[in-house]
Amino acid sequence: MQNSANTTLTLFCPRKSCKCYQSAENKIAKDGVYTTKSDCEPRQMFYCNGGKHRFSETGYSDLFGKHGSFKEYEQTAKLSSYGLAIDAIADVLQKDRRTIEQWQKAIGQKGHQFHLFLSFTIGLTIVFLQMDELWSYLKNKKQQLWVFIALESTTKFWIGFELGSRTIYTANRLVKGIKELGKWGKDNILKVATDKLAAYKNALENIMSDIPYAYLQIVKRRINRRLVTVKKYFVKGTAKDFPGKSQNTSFIERLNLTLRQHISYLHRKTLGYCKNKLNFTNVMWINLFNYNYIQFHKSLRIQIRNEDELTSPNRRTDLGQLCSISKYKSCRNSELFQDFCTLKSGKDGLKL
Ligand SMILES: [Zn+2]
Repeated sequence: MQNSANTTLTLFCPRKSCKCYQSAENKIAKDGVYTTKSDCEPRQMFYCNGGKHRFSETGYSDLFGKHGSFKEYEQTAKLSSYGLAIDAIADVLQKDRRTIEQWQKAIGQKGHQFHLFLSFTIGLTIVFLQMDELWSYLKNKKQQLWVFIALESTTKFWIGFELGSRTIYTANRLVKGIKELGKWGKDNILKVATDKLAAYKNALENIMSDIPYAYLQIVKRRINRRLVTVKKYFVKGTAKDFPGKSQNTSFIERLNLTLRQHISYLHRKTLGYCKNKLNFTNVMWINLFNYNYIQFHKSLRIQIRNEDELTSPNRRTDLGQLCSISKYKSCRNSELFQDFCTLKSGKDGLKL
């Protein structure tokens, strides 16, 4: 029983200069294996029939020609999601910091592509959306950089993030991204909960106008870090739209804390502020990829045990299907990582 993302999807040619680039009609055949100086683990070669050329499986990500082993790539990814800064990772792996930067870029990009591809293909069922923003700095303390994040809280699926100013522009981009990945029906009312930032309200009004949603703002007031009051404002809809214990933003706040720990640029009281927004984005994608697809969550384990129920047509079916991919060879994370990095799949209109 394995939910192999690789076997169900057709192979395509990943070479941009090839006339059969990403064509579904093209025939791709396995064509032997090879090893490199830095990696004794065999890598698969393929033959592109339409373009009459061979290519390596690493061509499916930007890891081709990056002179590292898959083990090192995996270590880089892991250390990046344990909150280590680039310099520290370079020190541990005895590499140049620029090398680590390049690897992070390639892995982050692949994580991004993978997430978009899978979410687009399956279409996320979003029941309860929670959004929040974290502060950080760019280069120095004078320049704030905010990280907006979005979570589907019934499945704990991290939908996406945006880096930018604490304004409507960043909120708009975030909500737009969510709308593109979601599967929207007219029957269910989408639940949304955020803090009091007005940008969310405007972004939702602008972008989700054709989707029925109920919107709850949770306003927490703190004096000297102590929580004094929690107020709930039903901006759209009523308390009835948020039954049970759903009148809170606790899941996104939990993710918030997780990210503070796992991403070096988000550490509190750090000197290692982000120097380069692109590096920050790459590390964020590595973390999202790790969080959604590689890590085994307690909350996901429950779903996997109930997989039979999840395959029945209920609201969470599609996301359940998505999450069960973390079961795929879950005992061997490195293989899982390699398979994802070299995921051999493409979709028309989606540039992988
Ligand atoms: Zn080709």
